Amino acid sequence: MSADRRRPTAGAYSHAGLVRSVNEDSVLADAPLYAVADGLGGHEAGEVASKLALRALLHNAPRRADAKGLARAARAANAEVIEAAAAGRGREGMGTTLTAAMVQGTTIAIAHVGDSRAYLLEGGKLARITEDHSLVADMVRAGSLDEEGARWHPNRSVITRALGTDPNMVADVYEVTASPGDRLLLCTDGLHGMIDDGEIERLLGSGMDPETTARALVDAALEAGGQDNVSVVVVDLTDADHAIQGARSAARRAAPLLWLLVAAGLVAGAVWATWRYADSRAFLVEEKGLVAVYRGIPGSFAGLTLAWRHAETTIPVDALPAHTASRLRTGIVQEDLESAYEAVARYRSLASRPATP
Ligand code: MN
Repeated sequence: MSADRRRPTAGAYSHAGLVRSVNEDSVLADAPLYAVADGLGGHEAGEVASKLALRALLHNAPRRADAKGLARAARAANAEVIEAAAAGRGREGMGTTLTAAMVQGTTIAIAHVGDSRAYLLEGGKLARITEDHSLVADMVRAGSLDEEGARWHPNRSVITRALGTDPNMVADVYEVTASPGDRLLLCTDGLHGMIDDGEIERLLGSGMDPETTARALVDAALEAGGQDNVSVVVVDLTDADHAIQGARSAARRAAPLLWLLVAAGLVAGAVWATWRYADSRAFLVEEKGLVAVYRGIPGSFAGLTLAWRHAETTIPVDALPAHTASRLRTGIVQEDLESAYEAVARYRSLASRPATP
């Protein structure tokens, strides 16, 4: 097996952001089907809606990159959310956006409802595939608002179409033919509402693998304020071997559903709870004699490392008080990234203070 084939062709990542306590987004990356859903409804009902929608989508997805088949799966997802609310699961009026893509080689079928987006990075240039179903997008189309104004408009989160509200909902469909080496991005508005298309283009085209790119995009949204849940799927488009795809979908029918669902709660159990806990935390640790900032928690749990380097600093550990320096060797846990950076600021002033004679 070549190294290339082992390299993952897709990466997905979802984060609650820095303001919301619940992640109502859901993500699905189960080749050849990829999707993001941004749940609406509050009181955790949005989380129920986005999870149900993606589950129904997967159960009803076509075998091939067929846009009409994918639109039918989106309608099934719509019916599922409406029925669930009527049956008392979640809440009346809950809903979700859906941007789903079926990828077959360089052929992409997309079904789309709401203000999540699909983008294509073509030869290093970013092109948006989907049109938002939102109040501000209508205003932009009518010429009464520009893109930049839309990003800051107080009603920017009002969407005009969603799953879960209208039994006759129709998804927009797109069929795109890309080239090998192009990249597909699916994201919720927690990404494109926080960073602009130029920054998305830069990170998507910076040569990192899909997983690292997904993380980097989410990190950029968090650094820009992380006002909303943020979810990202990055897919590298290749001249896929159809035999491999066929084998993969056969495996999918035979095996338990191989979900990569990065949504809170769907994967129950201690590992997930720990992962989610870790994801909101931060710690400081010595690395090559300098203070480094990590997201996560130090050490490992059940063989899992739950730490992601966020930043290096130029602060020498040796310049800090002895008890701080010794704690930094195993890691000093912080409430969150913000507290970690506050600690870094304190260390910086401690380190720059001249030694008392
Ligand atoms: Mn959102």
